[in-house]
Amino acid sequence: MTIERTLAIIKPDAVAKGVAGQILTRIENASFKVLAAKMLQLAPEQARSFYGVHRNRPFYQSLCAFMTQGPCIAMVLEGENAIQRWRDLMGATDFTKAAPGTIRKDFASSIEANAVHGSDSPASAVVEIAFFFSSLEICPR
Ligand code: GDP
Repeated sequence: MTIERTLAIIKPDAVAKGVAGQILTRIENASFKVLAAKMLQLAPEQARSFYGVHRNRPFYQSLCAFMTQGPCIAMVLEGENAIQRWRDLMGATDFTKAAPGTIRKDFASSIEANAVHGSDSPASAVVEIAFFFSSLEICPR
């Protein structure tokens, strides 16, 4: 088992619905340590940069507009195999295909407004954590 860190985001749709607390409870119940957390509203340029890997996808503009429509909550999660375990807890990108009991199955409203984000590899976790947090904002324990 490897102790990993991953970037998690409670996306604007979930914050607006008032389910951030329920999502955080699921995170804590799954034995992740929350090492950092903050609410912020992404500026358009920040959303374009964060999702730059998708710049040629047909949904890129819409995704960036969605991610800037209201505040989100960014977090650093730590735990055994945190990257894959957080993605398992999130569920499939398309909530209609997500497994029962996953966050997206229970809280997403569309393939775009799908409640949460998680890094997809150790390399992207490093880049994504640094995108949102300075080392001083991360509280190891
Ligand atoms: P993830 O790793 O499961 O978040 O999925 P991706 O990295 O493939 O996509 C990033 C985000 O783009 C997803 O979480 C969705 O919010 C959005 N997205 C993905 N596919 C689609 C799509 O086909 N249409 C739209 N409108 N948004 C999408």
